[in-house]
Amino acid sequence: MGGKAMSGYKLGVAGFSHETITFWPGLTTLKDFERNAYHGERVLEKARGTNSCIGGFIEVCERENVELLPVCVASGGATETVADDVYDFYVGAMRLGFDEIKDEIDGVLMSLHGAMATESRQDPETDAVREVREIIGYDMPLMVTFDLHANKDEAILREATAVFGFQSSPHVDMMDTGIRAANTMIRTLRGEVNPVVALKKPGIVVPSVFSATTVSPAKDIIDRVHWWEGKPGVVDVSALFGFAWSDVSPLGMSMVAVTDGDPQLAQEIVDDLCELAWGKRKELTGRSKAALHGVDEGVRLAIEKAGKASKPIVILDHADRSNDTTYILRELLNQGARKTAFPMLYDPDSALKIMEAGVGETVELEVGATTGWRDGGKVKVKGKVLWAGEGKYTGTGPMSINQEVDLGPTGILQVDGVWLQVMSRQSSLIDDDPIKQFGYRPEDFDIIVSKSKTHFRAVYEGLSEEIIIIDAPGQCPADLGVLKYVNVKEGVYPITLKDCSETRINY
Ligand SMILES: [Zn+2]
Repeated sequence: MGGKAMSGYKLGVAGFSHETITFWPGLTTLKDFERNAYHGERVLEKARGTNSCIGGFIEVCERENVELLPVCVASGGATETVADDVYDFYVGAMRLGFDEIKDEIDGVLMSLHGAMATESRQDPETDAVREVREIIGYDMPLMVTFDLHANKDEAILREATAVFGFQSSPHVDMMDTGIRAANTMIRTLRGEVNPVVALKKPGIVVPSVFSATTVSPAKDIIDRVHWWEGKPGVVDVSALFGFAWSDVSPLGMSMVAVTDGDPQLAQEIVDDLCELAWGKRKELTGRSKAALHGVDEGVRLAIEKAGKASKPIVILDHADRSNDTTYILRELLNQGARKTAFPMLYDPDSALKIMEAGVGETVELEVGATTGWRDGGKVKVKGKVLWAGEGKYTGTGPMSINQEVDLGPTGILQVDGVWLQVMSRQSSLIDDDPIKQFGYRPEDFDIIVSKSKTHFRAVYEGLSEEIIIIDAPGQCPADLGVLKYVNVKEGVYPITLKDCSETRINY
């Protein structure tokens, strides 16, 4: 055993993340996770200085001379149900890793997403924490961070000493969330605070497009979270908005409060937040007013508004999780949109063909729709190659700062009035890098299409005149009435609540 750091404390670190769309046919495999998996010291090398929970753990622990002993982290993105062997492999690695360090460490920090589902597990992340507990026991503190879109219930409270969720969507506060968890861990070890946690579910499923914390109603909930955090005796408060397209029993929002040894206060906070959310359930699920547009009408509105606007109009195609759906591209071409940027269409075959053709050449392709499920089908395009090469750069946006971004072989075509960027790796437009890093400027376009859900707002709210949200079919439509849920408990608005007669959204 090595010499102890000055503070004397050592913490084990692990991470496991996926946002699972259980309705999407097929499986997310070990290979999909391996692209973003690190073991041992590499965990710290990759995360240091990045906007991530582990980046936050490092920030606090290096400052406080607390030594971090990383086991492994793995993340698989936001796709189909996770294969069982992915869970077995990484949780197996965690069991082995924690078994090696269990006598050395004083606590454990875990960075989880909270909306993972595997073939046989509806809450694999809570199961993973339970398995880590089996190794390290229940005496030492274990703090867990979750994405704002986590589907969690009370089961996590039996395993975790305290729970911390992102408080922003766009997720510009991932590092801050790690900092909150690590600070509470160190204060707990020093005996300065005695964390007591309450978790309560208001019984609401929020499509992610309504979880943007920069605008009402999600903003009102997060404002109340911060208001509670300013009260004496309160350690930390989170509102987890859940992930709507995972058909699992803990589906939906949950409110979490951590207080200093005061269970009554923790309960009071989560009761209050649940009541606030319940009062806003119609706005949180898109049933209050026409907040969303259909495809034809939304594109027409964007073109009309773009003619008069001084800044770009952003079309938000929020339902596309595979970054390859073509409903809006087809309609933009049909309606003759001009000066329109369509960045980040996922289609590796087409990207290669554009690279093979080279800049200045004209190519004819059938693009997009690589998923085969709610993807809109391929669109025939003919355009001149404006750019072709490897799409690699270092992120400059608030979420991707200092991260290496690799879109793989990438091509940009001018198809009539549409600037179309085709890439080979899954990613969506969360900042202006995919335009700027390729020699163009967002302000040169009248219309920009984003397939992000809320993250794009960190950059595009300021940059655009207006955001028009289109509920195109895609894998994750806001209209949950088109999907068939079987695992969700009774009494969850608007899926299984008995008196919720209106299951479909009226656009
Ligand atoms: Zn999220």
